[in-house]
Amino acid sequence: MGSALPAYSQGIAPSIDAATFRACLADLKASPAFRAITDVTFQQNTDTLAPDPSVLVLLNRQPEFSMPVWDYLAVLDDAERVADGRAALARWQDTLQKIEQQSGVPPPIVLGVWGVESNFGQNLGGRPLVQSLATLSCFGRRQAYFRGEFAAALRIIQEGHIAPDKLTGSWAGAFGQTQFMPSTFFANAVDFDGDGRRDIVGSVPDALASTAKFLQNAGWRRGEPWGFEVKLPKGFDTSGASRKTKQPIAAWQRAGLTLANGQPLPGDLPSAGLMIPAPGGPAFLVGRNFDALYRYNASENYALAIAHLADLIADPQAPIAFATPWPTDDPGLSRAENRELQTLLLARGHDIGSADGMIGAKTREAIKAEQQRLGVKADGRAGQKLLGALRQPG
Ligand code: CA
Repeated sequence: MGSALPAYSQGIAPSIDAATFRACLADLKASPAFRAITDVTFQQNTDTLAPDPSVLVLLNRQPEFSMPVWDYLAVLDDAERVADGRAALARWQDTLQKIEQQSGVPPPIVLGVWGVESNFGQNLGGRPLVQSLATLSCFGRRQAYFRGEFAAALRIIQEGHIAPDKLTGSWAGAFGQTQFMPSTFFANAVDFDGDGRRDIVGSVPDALASTAKFLQNAGWRRGEPWGFEVKLPKGFDTSGASRKTKQPIAAWQRAGLTLANGQPLPGDLPSAGLMIPAPGGPAFLVGRNFDALYRYNASENYALAIAHLADLIADPQAPIAFATPWPTDDPGLSRAENRELQTLLLARGHDIGSADGMIGAKTREAIKAEQQRLGVKADGRAGQKLLGALRQPG
């Protein structure tokens, strides 16, 4: 990437001309996408609105590195999240049972989405949605997409589902207990507690029922598992493995695949594809319900994190680790281990803020410094080896 890119692609927030922003808002108001938004709604929500240039930095952020699947799952499927999921299952049991009766989506699956998306409502995202989406509608890439989301956000407010000050979320406009985009809201959100509003921020029943509705609309099949870990026969050719290439379970049985514990494949999954997230690591047969989970965020690793968390919530005896280990000699860290790592970095004088278990840019820089000191590859990755090294008195 050369100098043709604007400054904000290198992490510097651009200065936005106020007059340009006001002119853009006026154009938007007059455009067909905003036909359903009244003058009053538009004025009340935009008259004193200032743009937020920081969302443009995030829009153009290049991923520092692609995270290995085992790091991703170590954080999303850790013992704390399983325990919190078990507590949520007990607390919301009646609601979740009613949701399953209507949608066919079992409680652990709904809780898996809730746990991965917002840590059971603890991380909803604090950015005002209207401000983020208005900025993204007027500047940067994908303005057409964000304009539709901006209009939908205003419609949520106009229809009284969620108050403007409660409508906060991620920089890109995902909000609520299970992080819907505004357009996803209108396609899937339901009023489950019966107060007339679809409040996926303040009402857990509304949010969980809306999540189940999303999965139902994405093709969830009642009574089918998402899939399961499998054991491959020796010498099995995995070159054509794909979630999308589905075969009847009988065909996989004939090919010699079993459950990870060696038991025969169960018959409650009619057809499945073979998914191998990392060559040499665990293998999974996944069905149509895994595809429904995939629709939530268009990522197989993400869908696997939800599916596995659901299994762990459903069976507290189940081990967190898969039967086949990930192909690494340096596994990832849970959030508790991330906090321990950060505490050790703080003790060594690195200015990384608080030990919150979230590995951000400051923690990565501190990790790189320690890796250089230790004479290992300075990639900024938080793993078991580094944690072990920092536990030694330095
Ligand atoms: Ca409601």
